[in-house]
Parts: sequence; C-alpha cells; structure tokens
Amino acid sequence: EALPSPGFDLLLLVRSYPPGFCSHQHCHTPASSSFTIHGLWPEYKTGGWPQFCGAHTTHQAAGPPTPAQNCLWPSLIGPSPGFWEHEWAKHGTCAAPLLGNRTAFVATVLELHEKYNLDVALGNAGVLPSSSGDYAAEDLQEAVRAAYGAAPLLSCTAGTLVEVWMCLDLELRVMDCPPAVRPGPKCGADVRLPRGAEVPPRCRP
Ligand code: 5GP
Ligand code: 5GP
Repeated sequence: EALPSPGFDLLLLVRSYPPGFCSHQHCHTPASSSFTIHGLWPEYKTGGWPQFCGAHTTHQAAGPPTPAQNCLWPSLIGPSPGFWEHEWAKHGTCAAPLLGNRTAFVATVLELHEKYNLDVALGNAGVLPSSSGDYAAEDLQEAVRAAYGAAPLLSCTAGTLVEVWMCLDLELRVMDCPPAVRPGPKCGADVRLPRGAEVPPRCRP
C-alpha cells in the first residue's frame, strides 16, 4: 500500500511565540502569549526543501478567512492576507500533491495547529509564560513529547523562544525530526518564555 511520493519526505509545522518574535521585530499588534501559526512546510529528510512549486496554482484564490484563521494565523508584522499568500505560494504549492488545493491547505494547517496545541501541551506541564526566570529547553521539548509523542525543535533569539518546529510524517503524525532538519537560530540550554498580552476576547478558545 505504498502511496505515490508527493515529492518531499515530511512536513514542518512551524508555530511562532509572539512575545519572542516581537522582541526582535516590530509587531503591529500586541503579542499575546498564545502560539500562532507561521506555516506548514514540506521538507526533505536529507535537509533542504522544495519551494514555490506552483507555476499555475500560485495565484489560486483563497476563500474569505474564517474567524479562526484570523485569530490563529495572523501576520504579526503586517497585513495577514499577504502572509497567507506567501505561505501558500512558497510552501503550500509544494504540499499540494499531499494536501490538495489552497482551501484544503489552509484547513489542514488550522486543524493541525489545534490538534497539536502548544498552549495546552506546555500548560499541562506547568511551563507557563513567565516574566521571571527561564525554563530548560529540554523541559519544553519534553512537555510537547509527553503530549504528542515527539519532541519539537526550538528556535530562539537572545535566549527567548521565537518558534517551535514539529516534524510530521506524510500521514500527518508527529515524528522526531531527522538530524538534517535544522530550525533557525537554535535555543541554548535555557529558554525565556516572556509573558505577552492577553488574547483578545474574540480569539479566546
Ligand atoms: P530564515 O532565513 O528566517 O531562517 O527563513 C526564511 C524562510 O525560509 C522561512 O520562513 C521559510 O519559509 C524558509 N525556511 C527556512 N528554513 C527552512 C527549513 O528548514 N525548511 C523549510 N521548508 N523552509 C525553511
Ligand atoms: P517564510 O518565507 O519564512 O515562510 O515566511 C516569512 C515571510 O513572511 C517573511 O518574508 C516575512 O517578512 C513574512 N511575514 C509576514 N508576517 C509574518 C509573521 O507574522 N511571521 C513571520 N515569521 N513572517 C512573516
């Protein structure tokens, strides 16, 4: 029952930690303590990735965003529609052999974000945003492993958590990331998880 290869080996589900991201970039909205989506990126297990795969699908129209998309997948630095367009064109078009068209891609990204909810995984382990003190990077990774079965990769700027990268196999199950998959600037042994703004009422779970 081998499926035809979609042309890549795994997917990276990349989430932003807004207080960390916005500690080094100018954000246009208050950075809340809830993780938001960056993207879902096809990846080769040997390192590297395909990008901009869709000569004719790139400009596929998107339906109007749902309230969930606006809340969970905002651009932190500019208008969200341009960010969504970029994520579809650069990464989504390459995932299309597995995930389908732009509408299906967006739906899958939102489903995976909720299924592998990082606020819940960290909260259950007592790893709460805090304006004092650090966490061991291993404790963050272990919290996610305990919840979903595999440890993510962490990316930091100046010791502050910016992104969490989870590797998913082609059946969208969490897996350990192959060694060749590297996040942006890695975190050290200790990670700061500064507290952000409150989630706006319209975006609360
Ligand atoms: P940066 O240069 O900030 O690390 O990455 C810029 C962009 O390149 C990312 O937002 C992403 O679109 C892409 N990118 C960087 N590293 C990876 C990677 O390991 N896999 C994939 N699929 N894309 C990446
Ligand atoms: P990537 O190419 O790394 O998948 O996507 C990052 C691109 O989207 C960058 O060019 C960045 O300027 C733009 N962008 C717009 N909003 C955001 C945001 O909220 N977070 C990140 N990481 N990039 C954003």
